[in-house]
Amino acid sequence: MAKKDDIEKCCLCGRGESPTRPLLTGRSGSVCAECVQQAYNLCKDAGFVADANNKNKKAVADKWAIDYESLPRPTEIKSFIDQYVIGQDDAKRYLSVAVYNHYKRLLQPAALGKTDDVEIEKSNIILVGRTGTGKTLLARTIAKMLKVPFAIVDATVLTEAGYVGEDVESLLVRLLQATDYDVAAAERGIVFIDEIDKIARKGDNPSITRDVSGEGVQQGLLKLLEGSVVNVPPQGGRKHPEQKMISIDTKNILFICGGAFEGIERKIAMRLNTHVVGYNNDAKEQVDRDNLLQYIAPQDLRSFGLIPEIIGRLPILTHLEPLDRAALRRILTEPRNSIIRQYEKLFEIDGIKLSFDNDVYEYIVDTAVEYKLGARGLRSIVESIMIDAMYEAPASGMKELNITRQYAAEKFERSSRLKIS
Ligand code: ADP
Repeated sequence: MAKKDDIEKCCLCGRGESPTRPLLTGRSGSVCAECVQQAYNLCKDAGFVADANNKNKKAVADKWAIDYESLPRPTEIKSFIDQYVIGQDDAKRYLSVAVYNHYKRLLQPAALGKTDDVEIEKSNIILVGRTGTGKTLLARTIAKMLKVPFAIVDATVLTEAGYVGEDVESLLVRLLQATDYDVAAAERGIVFIDEIDKIARKGDNPSITRDVSGEGVQQGLLKLLEGSVVNVPPQGGRKHPEQKMISIDTKNILFICGGAFEGIERKIAMRLNTHVVGYNNDAKEQVDRDNLLQYIAPQDLRSFGLIPEIIGRLPILTHLEPLDRAALRRILTEPRNSIIRQYEKLFEIDGIKLSFDNDVYEYIVDTAVEYKLGARGLRSIVESIMIDAMYEAPASGMKELNITRQYAAEKFERSSRLKIS
């Protein structure tokens, strides 16, 4: 039997417990955390723990293995997205091609069978579209079918070093997490950076006020987009000197950026107007004033406050269409996981067959248009209509529930009255 004194000391180094060196106590003695760590390092160096790690790595690598024959072609990628996202054909085509080309770049040396001088460069993308038109949905949908690691991140939290916020490199942490910290796999991934417009330079004169989340962040981002080796803090957030960093080469990472660029229509209109003067007066008549985003050009992003170097590194610029009434109507019922299907499913779990009269859909869409709620509003309208039924139906024993327009209007108007009063 070990003496009490022995139990309270590490049997290897003989030191007692301290706040930074806890003891692991067994039946006949204790070991301190430092000795455990040393023992682990020894075993690792001798190759005892490497096996398990390698197995894991191999499983991760297999998961991301791609070969030319089994790659989805651009038309197939688009058909897949079509099941979930309504309209936005231009953006879908650009994205499908970009993803496909990304695969091809990754395959490059093997696919060519020999090395030659032609190196396919990556084509990062920028998607511009009003909020709620499906930018994030597009990214999420693509992620579902991808054979490369994919992460969605938000640019709003980024600020220059020295200020509250996160370093640009932290954008890559999500990608590392998606691959279980397998750096080689992460280096072939795709990152979707949402709200890229939030790091645009504020105002035309950069020196008037400090712009901690603007130009400095863009300079940082530039490094990632161009392709360079960057040090990433493994937990994200702000880098600090004592932290262990993970080096990632971004050369083969594809970046897709999305942003609403609110107000950019004014810049486009100004450019179109000046362009038209003394050039071709007929063109002025043909401009579709309601959808100016379709004319977006790199110089508009520049006027908005993105630095030219960043724009140069995002060579593919495409836009999303505003959602009209017809699109909203389709969004309500057509996507594979449309809002209506989700509610039908919710009731189905309780054994209740939910149905809607056709004019209920019209009512929902009319309301979304009237209140200018867009696609995001569709869900909240349906939720207001269905809340009472979802509360009462499960315990009622009913087998069927049909929603009429009158019922829908009553429920929605009541809930909006409650919200206003
Ligand atoms: P954004 O990123 O452009 O601001 P989101 O992609 O987040 O917009 O869209 C918000 C919600 O609106 C989505 O979750 C989806 O339910 C719906 N939605 C928007 N656009 C579409 C679309 N084109 N097709 C289907 N649903 C859409």
